[in-house]
Amino acid sequence: MSDPNQFWSTGLDQLAPYVPGEQPQGGGWIKLNTNENPYPPSPKVIEAIQEALGSRMPMYPDPQSSDFRQSVADRFQLLPEQVFAGNGSDEILAFAFKAFFVRGQEVLFPDISYSFYPVYARATGVPFRTVALDAHFQIPFAELCAPNSGVIFPNPNAPTALKVELGAVEQVLVQNPHSVVIVDEAYVDFGAESAVPLIANYPNLLVVHTLSKSRSLAGLRVGWAMGDRGLIEALERVRDSVNSYTVDRLAQAGAAAALRDEAYFLETTRKVVATRERFVLGLEKIGFDVVPSSANFVFTAHPTLSAFELLESLRQRKILVRAFKGPRLERHARISIGTDEEMDAVLEVLQEI
Ligand SMILES: *Cc1c(COP(=O)(O)O)cnc(C)c1O
Repeated sequence: MSDPNQFWSTGLDQLAPYVPGEQPQGGGWIKLNTNENPYPPSPKVIEAIQEALGSRMPMYPDPQSSDFRQSVADRFQLLPEQVFAGNGSDEILAFAFKAFFVRGQEVLFPDISYSFYPVYARATGVPFRTVALDAHFQIPFAELCAPNSGVIFPNPNAPTALKVELGAVEQVLVQNPHSVVIVDEAYVDFGAESAVPLIANYPNLLVVHTLSKSRSLAGLRVGWAMGDRGLIEALERVRDSVNSYTVDRLAQAGAAAALRDEAYFLETTRKVVATRERFVLGLEKIGFDVVPSSANFVFTAHPTLSAFELLESLRQRKILVRAFKGPRLERHARISIGTDEEMDAVLEVLQEI
């Protein structure tokens, strides 16, 4: 029999692709496994997308995403030249590994962190080294200053939900003047302080944001990066060597509208945070260990069950949460914050378990 992989590029069979959380197709699930927002996007987003649908769809979209980048620039007091738009922040992170990290040394990131980082590193052929979180799941920042070709970490970290103080971020920037430091702020709006104000002083800082979590638009696939113009230009070079039109016309229209509806964003974010605080109290009351969360999810351990046992017993009751493989991850499950009603239902089931 012939080898089914005979046509593949060398090394492709060695890649270990990212495995996204399950997206069940039937109804009736309480879905708390991929950190989506329980609230719909702003009505202004839907309006803007409908309007965009009505015209110019035969034409390619603006390859520069100019209006969306302007909306980001206005919101964060930057110049549009300091903003890069991408098809989800996952795409931007993949471009960034190619644009900044192929420099002959190791990329550094925490050992318990976003599981896409090692995937990007392997896919771009960048050697990497992970630095171990301490016993309280804190990132040991001093270790991110060893010789490297780049540093990346989320703030708040995922899946721990722990935030990082800006002073620590700044130390990493100061200690790494010759490499790019990427702060992945996918969850920053739920309780951490953004590093964006540091961009003015650190040309090696790239801050990455997404519409997927705090703006209820995981389905639209839009993220953006903010940093020195030189960094943005590097990302553009990578993008334009692959596909100049990564952000489609509807996505650009919806994304700009989302950035301009600050009131709606503040209201839904506040609701998620309030629900999280209630849920954490409920968890602690029934004996769970909860890592202090600044995100729209909690990282929590049952006193006796393993994370996968917990996940299975919730699954049987049509509640989806996430657990991870790896050292020190045996006990903690990651539970996204849904509505108050959803989290009350989860607490009830956990109480039975
Ligand atoms: C969700 C997430 C992203 C990716 O978001 P996109 O949907 O691709 O914009 C990036 N980093 C972290 C840490 C995330 O949790």
